[in-house]
Amino acid sequence: MKHGLNLLIQHGKPEDILPSIAKASGAHTVYAHTETCSEELRVERGVRAGLQKVRRQTQEPSGKNPLSPKLELVWGSTMYHTDDLPFHPTELPDVYTQFRKSVESKCTIRSCFKLPTSLGPLPRCDLDEIGGWGCVPLVDDLGLHHEKVNMGMCFRGGESAALSRVNEYFWRKDLLRVYKETRNGMLGPDYSTKFSPWLASGCISPRLVYEEVKRYEKERQANDSTYWVLFELIWRDYFRFLSVKYVNSLFQIGGPRKVESIKWSQDRVLFESWREGRTGYPLIDANMKELYTTGFMSNRGRQIVCSFLVRDMGIDWRMGAEWFETCLLDYDPCSNYGNWTYGAGVGNDPREDRYFSIPKQAQNYDPDGEYVAYWLPELQALPKDKRHFPGKSYIKQIVPLKFGSSNQRHGRSNYNRRQGKDYAGGSKNFY
Ligand code: FAD
Repeated sequence: MKHGLNLLIQHGKPEDILPSIAKASGAHTVYAHTETCSEELRVERGVRAGLQKVRRQTQEPSGKNPLSPKLELVWGSTMYHTDDLPFHPTELPDVYTQFRKSVESKCTIRSCFKLPTSLGPLPRCDLDEIGGWGCVPLVDDLGLHHEKVNMGMCFRGGESAALSRVNEYFWRKDLLRVYKETRNGMLGPDYSTKFSPWLASGCISPRLVYEEVKRYEKERQANDSTYWVLFELIWRDYFRFLSVKYVNSLFQIGGPRKVESIKWSQDRVLFESWREGRTGYPLIDANMKELYTTGFMSNRGRQIVCSFLVRDMGIDWRMGAEWFETCLLDYDPCSNYGNWTYGAGVGNDPREDRYFSIPKQAQNYDPDGEYVAYWLPELQALPKDKRHFPGKSYIKQIVPLKFGSSNQRHGRSNYNRRQGKDYAGGSKNFY
């Protein structure tokens, strides 16, 4: 508003809303980011078709300025611009490290655009026709309710909140300095950046995060942690470019490698116990409760619950991916389905085939059971070393662990012996 314009807020489908706004404002062009996945491309086509039905009222000759507003798409969302890649996305390397090394050595990251000094004047617009400027709906208006979570991150939408988190995490709390050591945490707001919901909804750009990391490195210090945030953002880019290369196979059961040898189950009882956090494994149940309650789960948690669903339960990985899609505040089709295909062992890179052992993960990332006791208060009274495997004080385990046992005896030999023919690819990494 300081720059002479306002934000028009409407709630509904882009293919219905955008043509009506274009009509009311007499717009000649609608600009949007290019999408890469099928459902988003369908919306893009719907918007284009809707705009074609709009007739602009113009005095100019129609040849010069078409009567219907046009849809102009620009590449966005990634840190590296698609036009700057040393290869076409369809030729993308299947090994992440090759991709990363190649872009790091051959590409530069474009600067952010400066905000124009003036955004006005307001287009001549019949706002009444479209219900006025609108306002940000309250959570209650959307049929949802607030959940009070003391140990979580309070996510507020919008660019100002996103910038304030960057400021807090990098500068005020100086957490960027130690990111690489803390990033595998699960409890509280500060073990990782928590930028993902804002990145996913376009409230901040990864190019801005890049510029802030570089400024931090100049003004404070450069170390492994400052680099690691960029390393993770390159993963995010990689999954987006992979969606251009592998199109719909990212959503199909055999994944990009079209793996057919895995027999997946769609057992509803097992799936519901995972979804609702009633598996009898506190580490799984706590993470699933956090996801449902807050719309967020740590990266460590996501890898563990994904591995449990696909490896220990043998459930169709797409059911897990869909539940994540339903809940995640940072849902992004490329990162979500890309990570799930890796977790399920059907991703483009067979070397990313991993089994996460619950006893080992619990020992490394929640040794005192603080995380599980926060989300499952019934465990708080137990001694710390019993919280992950509380026996009869907790609900019965719904399936045994495939590799390794719950009394913390696990190891490669056991894992290799029992791996059988369940999964494609000979060697799996055991975490
Ligand atoms: P940080 O650790 O602070 O990382 C900084 C940024 O790097 C993140 O905000 C994110 O943009 C990016 N990033 C980090 N790890 C990854 C990764 N493995 N893949 C892609 N980008 C990454 N991330 C999403 O943004 N949307 C999803 O829908 C999504 N689904 C996932 C599903 C599964 C099964 C798994 C294992 C991971 C998924 N991730 C997804 C990646 C990752 O878990 C989240 O990006 C991360 O936990 C967000 O927290 P953060 O912002 O604090 O991350």
